[in-house]
Amino acid sequence: VHVAPALDDAELLRRLVAFDTTSRNSNLPIADYICEYLDRPGIRIARNPSPDGRKTNLVLAAGPAGLGSGGLALSGHMDVVPAEEPDWKTDPFTLATVDGQLVGRGAADMKGFLALAINALAALDPGRLRLPLALLLTYDEELGTLGARHFVETWAEPEELPKSAIIGEPTSLAVVRMHKGYLKMRFEVTGQAAHSGYPHLGTNAIEPAARAIVALGDLRAALERERPAHSEHFPDVPYAALNVATVAGGVAINVIPDRCRVELGVRLLPGMASKAMVDTVRATVRGAVGDAPWAITVLGESPAMLLPEDAPLHRMLCGALGQTETVGVSFATDAGWFQALGIACVVCGPGSITTAHRANEHLPVSEFHRAGQLIRDVVRRWCVDGAAAR
Ligand SMILES: [Zn+2]
Repeated sequence: VHVAPALDDAELLRRLVAFDTTSRNSNLPIADYICEYLDRPGIRIARNPSPDGRKTNLVLAAGPAGLGSGGLALSGHMDVVPAEEPDWKTDPFTLATVDGQLVGRGAADMKGFLALAINALAALDPGRLRLPLALLLTYDEELGTLGARHFVETWAEPEELPKSAIIGEPTSLAVVRMHKGYLKMRFEVTGQAAHSGYPHLGTNAIEPAARAIVALGDLRAALERERPAHSEHFPDVPYAALNVATVAGGVAINVIPDRCRVELGVRLLPGMASKAMVDTVRATVRGAVGDAPWAITVLGESPAMLLPEDAPLHRMLCGALGQTETVGVSFATDAGWFQALGIACVVCGPGSITTAHRANEHLPVSEFHRAGQLIRDVVRRWCVDGAAAR
């Protein structure tokens, strides 16, 4: 029995784009919509609310309970980045079709995949599934995989989750089995404010911070010369990329600055430990600031992701798409966290990361349909035929 979804893929995408799920907003309206859309016998719906209750992760599953681990998860984030670029030619929250492209905020990143995943579940007869299919939908990915982290840290029944997942971030349908992680830090140097005519009464916070910035520049250059494990799969940037990103300090030219705050990010290769990098940055700053009081804070972390080449889901997707080589990407995803639950993740979805986070974000109509075919095919083989279990 094939159940027809209530809306076709493009119409469902249009509805999803119409929810302004910019990360600063609550995602409860889109979550409610998705739950209502999929609410029927045989589909289990569970929420994993954020600590403040303004947002939620969703788990929607069908198929035999108790066999969760053998099943397949399709995962994506419900939030989008702001659409405030002045160059939008159409309303970002009204899906438009222009020259064979679906245009709108989230079309590629990643409501296109969400629409396909939701309809893949909607089209199934739960009674025919040998293995479960689950949708794992998150909030605040764009703020640094916050929803996925919360899910991993609080979900009560991780053993019931499928142990294989497709994270549908836009890869132009390349099958990605590794990506870099992302670590965000801030350090702040404290001085003593004083009138600049009486400098002996104050302590300048910017000067030691500046020495630390120079030292971090040296660390950046040293990291660029290293070739850690897996670097061959990141040919454009085969090293951990460190970026001193913001610096703020001082209030006026005639005041000795009592504070300087510096923010930096590091994109780690799979296998590089976040803690070790924090320690390296801490030691670098300590060695440069001298006696000035200072403190470092880790602002956020998205772990790197690495899946063995012979993982069944990786093999199945590569086979279906005719891909023979290993592909790594330099952006972080929810997969880094899911991996910590023992979930084997592949990142593969329609649309290009190069159009994401920009004005006139778009997704080729043909690629959207091709991805829909792929997802339905993989779900049928994995969950209906039980291909992975055999
Ligand atoms: Zn995304």
